[in-house]
Amino acid sequence: MTAQLPLSALTWADTLPPTRSAALARIARVRPAAYARTRNHLEGAVTGLSPYLTHGLVTLREVLAGVLEREPLAVQHKLVFELGWREFFRHTWAHEDERILHSLHAGPRPDAAYAPTLPADIRHGRTGVPVIDQAVRTLYATGTLHNHARMWLASYVVHLRHVHWRAGAEWLVAHLLDGDVGSNHLSWQWVAGTGSHKPYLFNADNMARYAPPHWHSAGTVIDQSYEALDRTAHGGAPVGPGPAAAEAVPEPPLRAAAPADLGVIKPDASAAERLQGREVWLVHPWALRAPLPALPEGVLCIGLYLSEHHAAWPWPEARWRWVDTAMAAVTSERWHVDTASLAAILSGAARVRSVDDPHLAYWLNRVARLDVAPTLFPPVERRCTSFSQWWTLATRGLHRAEELL
Ligand SMILES: Cc1cc2nc3c(=O)[nH]c(=O)nc-3n(C[C@H](O)[C@H](O)[C@H](O)COP(=O)(O)OP(=O)(O)OC[C@H]3O[C@@H](n4cnc5c(N)ncnc54)[C@H](O)[C@@H]3O)c2cc1C
Repeated sequence: MTAQLPLSALTWADTLPPTRSAALARIARVRPAAYARTRNHLEGAVTGLSPYLTHGLVTLREVLAGVLEREPLAVQHKLVFELGWREFFRHTWAHEDERILHSLHAGPRPDAAYAPTLPADIRHGRTGVPVIDQAVRTLYATGTLHNHARMWLASYVVHLRHVHWRAGAEWLVAHLLDGDVGSNHLSWQWVAGTGSHKPYLFNADNMARYAPPHWHSAGTVIDQSYEALDRTAHGGAPVGPGPAAAEAVPEPPLRAAAPADLGVIKPDASAAERLQGREVWLVHPWALRAPLPALPEGVLCIGLYLSEHHAAWPWPEARWRWVDTAMAAVTSERWHVDTASLAAILSGAARVRSVDDPHLAYWLNRVARLDVAPTLFPPVERRCTSFSQWWTLATRGLHRAEELL
């Protein structure tokens, strides 16, 4: 019998230690030229920084500043361009708010023509299409997935299986260590053609150029011409699951709260007494870095999981452990609490501050004064409906990447 890799927190934290120093070390290893040449390859020189960016252990500005310490880059360099995608999705989220959870415009088929749930064979990596089954296994085991693999997975789900993009998006965002509603849902919409001008399609020949041999999928439903794929995307009948070659992989269960052994508490009335007249800084999962500059003596630094948010967007245990390790490193205690109880507990505090983030702003705004999260690109006020529109405005008149800093 072969030993099974446990789907445990250790696996995720071993590959990507949940510390700011690990993020800074990763920034120091970024090789912009190799990145530009190989980023589309599954084994290419990508940065692996997205969990750190998503959870706010580092910012886009720090990534770029760190890379530029070693070599200058043009603003149009591929790496800067890709960092721009993250900020473009934030731009779209800021303008569209909750509307990003719905199709931004019509796609190749009406919304109602897609299945509302993700089929079990996809969830369990048993579609019979190696690229999809490998992607699902990688996702569950590591919490990460290369950008190209995410695109293939989303395209297969939406355009070949005719599953609504939102069903796929909600499943994927839950299992990714870097799961971020803006980048994830808007990427799914980009693939689906509800946030871009056309559906993103791929076939077996194309993907074989970028993935190792055990991902290759010749002879399966993705081994078709682009014309045939396009017909299925626009109408036609969806493809079904193929003969499953792989064993079913269990989907890690999702939890709305941290595992009990981590020591996250539900604050009670005594917390309100302790906070009376004190200054409080709230550290939440989307801004895990210690406040900069360092907080003055006497400010209480408390970690916060808002129950309304986590009930709506649960995580697998491994992500809870990863995030909580990072949170515990910069706080004196961590709370899991609903907004109304939190507001009551904080009501006697002298001042409550935190960092803004669209995942939490709706609730956090009611209890704390929020610092604006730092951005890398100059603000673009006008809502841009395409990345290229936004990029043109965000980089207008700039030549060197350092001008962004
Ligand atoms: C269907 C789908 C779902 C996605 N879901 C998420 C998600 O939940 N969270 C998330 O952070 N990214 C998401 N992405 C974007 C992208 O896949 C990841 O940011 C990237 O794979 C992270 O790996 P990396 O840090 O090695 O990226 P690198 O290629 O090294 O890029 C450096 C950084 O630039 C940003 N970036 C690069 N490419 C993109 C992109 N296409 N879109 C947005 N930002 C980008 C990321 O912050 C990334 O960390 C998704 C993409 C797709 C197609």
